[in-house]
Amino acid sequence: MAECLAARLAAQEDQIHLLTREISTLRDGLCRGLDAVGAGVVTPELETLRTENEKLKYRLLHLRRGLQAELELEEAQGRRQPGAKWDTAPGKSTGKDQQRNNRADNKVATPDTKSGDKNKKEKKQEKGPGDGGAKELKPWPTYINERLSLYEELKRESDALLAQKAAHSKPITVELPDGRKMAGKAWVTTPYQLASDISQGLADNAVISRVNGELWDLDRPLEQDCSLEILRFDNEDAQVYWHSSAHILGEAMERFYGGCLCYGPPIENGFYYDMFLDGQKGVSSTEFGDLEGLCKNVVKEKQPFERLEISKETLLKMFKVRHHKTSICSKCGPLIDLCRGPHVRHTGKIKAMKIYKNSSTYWEGRSDMETLQRIYGISFPDSKMLKEWERFQEEAKNRDHRKIGKDQELFFFHDLSPGSCFFMPRGAYIYNTLTEFIRDEYWRRGFQEVASPNIYNSKLWETSGHWQHYSENMFSFPVEDDIFALKPMNCPGHCLMFSHRPRSWRELPLRLADFGVLHRNELSGTLTGLTRVRRFQQDDAHIFCTMEQIESEMKGCLDFLRCVYDVFGFSFQLHLSTRPEKYLGDISVWNQAEKVNQNSLNEFGEPWKLNPGDGAFYGPKIDIKIKDAIGRYHQCATIQLDFQLPIRFNLTFVGDPEGRFRPVIIHRAILGSVERMIAILTENYAGKWPLWISPRQVMVVPVNPSLEDYAKMVCKQFTEAGFMADADLDSGCLLNKKIRNAQLAQYNFILVVGEKEKMTNSVNVRTRDNKVHGELSVAEVLARLTLLKQSRCRSAEEEF
Ligand SMILES: [Zn+2]
Ligand SMILES: [Zn+2]
Repeated sequence: MAECLAARLAAQEDQIHLLTREISTLRDGLCRGLDAVGAGVVTPELETLRTENEKLKYRLLHLRRGLQAELELEEAQGRRQPGAKWDTAPGKSTGKDQQRNNRADNKVATPDTKSGDKNKKEKKQEKGPGDGGAKELKPWPTYINERLSLYEELKRESDALLAQKAAHSKPITVELPDGRKMAGKAWVTTPYQLASDISQGLADNAVISRVNGELWDLDRPLEQDCSLEILRFDNEDAQVYWHSSAHILGEAMERFYGGCLCYGPPIENGFYYDMFLDGQKGVSSTEFGDLEGLCKNVVKEKQPFERLEISKETLLKMFKVRHHKTSICSKCGPLIDLCRGPHVRHTGKIKAMKIYKNSSTYWEGRSDMETLQRIYGISFPDSKMLKEWERFQEEAKNRDHRKIGKDQELFFFHDLSPGSCFFMPRGAYIYNTLTEFIRDEYWRRGFQEVASPNIYNSKLWETSGHWQHYSENMFSFPVEDDIFALKPMNCPGHCLMFSHRPRSWRELPLRLADFGVLHRNELSGTLTGLTRVRRFQQDDAHIFCTMEQIESEMKGCLDFLRCVYDVFGFSFQLHLSTRPEKYLGDISVWNQAEKVNQNSLNEFGEPWKLNPGDGAFYGPKIDIKIKDAIGRYHQCATIQLDFQLPIRFNLTFVGDPEGRFRPVIIHRAILGSVERMIAILTENYAGKWPLWISPRQVMVVPVNPSLEDYAKMVCKQFTEAGFMADADLDSGCLLNKKIRNAQLAQYNFILVVGEKEKMTNSVNVRTRDNKVHGELSVAEVLARLTLLKQSRCRSAEEEF
């Protein structure tokens, strides 16, 4: 590890030297050549190099730190003897290294520390210097104490503020959703009290309240006349519940690992918490049980979530303190104190909780920053709901595309190219069938396929804006005297194609489609199967058109995606995202485009929703989410209007009447990434592929070895007709076993051939679900299957 780091370090230093040299050359050149203008002029190239240099220096610093830690660790391990200074007092840590090496000690010591854990305050005190428990972390005490005293100060201030306000309380009226009105006192009455007045059951099951449309802690006093809703747990909107649960997980992690908590948000499926653990140790799933145990204790203690009102001065003071500390711990430590909530009333509201996954990630998602340990959890107000969720997870696990991909020999990944998939012959068949499907539609729908380069000079990316905003996600490398990069998108290349020669209005709409290979530098820690990859292809197309053509083009795109999703059997949701706060361009153009988008959606006839302000800065977009067989939604297709790229590339066409006009670009994809779509389809069908896309369509099974030649001949006929056909010629295997094997391998059709079939040039047809269609001539079966395949029928086995 250390050698590896040292090598990286050396390489980085070389890069820095190189860059420094380049910068001085550039600077010298500038000074010599631009005397008249002055030496203060900075070219964009120099700027880029400078920022690059800054980044490299930063990375170098982190690598050096990592290397230092590595060396210390190795040294320590080498030196460590029985009776050496850290071993003299078991369970008592004497420093960081102890923390790093003796995680197990911490675990053993946990029951001792938790006994006094009545609430957070006490716990924090325990962690203070000199308590002698295994949780003690020598570099921490000042920081813990600061946090603690700040907390107390804040609490005092908050209580005082509230008391002051309550002293001047006025009567208020609270309106319930059914129109009923209740009386209360400003700054005194809480939603929880009102809920209890209505019924104890309601109060007990309440998760959070909504006051005048704003989520409101149940124990937070109401401030004025208001409307009030009492909300129970709802899967669709469990964010408050899961946010609160994340605090419990965080507390357990702090107690268990002693690391530094960073960020713990609710997510679509539960929540997670990131923690910085000093040293190279990670989290193991074998520790989940212990963590869950700790969480249970926190739940049992019914720790209240206290909401603090903080004055500006105190906040300033707090920020000053935070600013003052420059180590990484300081950035994340006081998070609990600064959380705005809202929360459930107390930790006891979290009835069923499970820790289900861990991974490592980077601080702020940047690979040049420290590695963090992420632990995922989920919680429900009822253990039955957790059971239900677990069943669903089990179902999802059985459908996991990585598992099916392996079982069916479709694809695999290799450490030597993380995030880039190897599609084996049967996987490649699916891949190509999907792109062929889209290609057929392109042909019918007036799209023209093009092929464009994979690598471009960074000058192109400067023009497109990728270099300024996306370069961290691009693979770039020097080529002769320039920096080149692998394309993460096709659009800039298509802009070059458009501007390659003068364009006339007669050519519009110009629909350029490209299955070009794209690369995005996703962090290695975030790569997961086919859903998050570095190398992928899209069914990408760019439509260059006039403002007037947008409406019909949008309709065309919507019709296209419905046609494709119908074939797959997906229902979908449409969302229109409109102008964000920070937008570029002319507001009247935006308004017109949004109007046009709404028109096309209305005419399309499927229900759609509005996401106001959610569009990209360069144009409104339509997002499409498909729903899979087990009810999960996936975002695949997008239709995105772009007014900015044509400006950046100065694209024009000669209009009618004569004049130069700016085209609009519509970016659109239906499959999205072909890789990701294969993952979704694999899980949607659970490996039972519809005939047309199935990597195993026909299996010919001879009843005994004497019929092998006939079986081979039949198989050849199907192969020649374009089917994925095989013949099972394993003479050591009995007929029934062969049929069973073919069914388990998900061959759509199994053609059994015996003496009788051979005489009449026929086969005996059955399906993978063991439906027997009986004896038919080979020609007839070929004709029927060809038809079913061409029509991309989803239930060919039934309709045969
Ligand atoms: Zn919170
Ligand atoms: Zn594009």
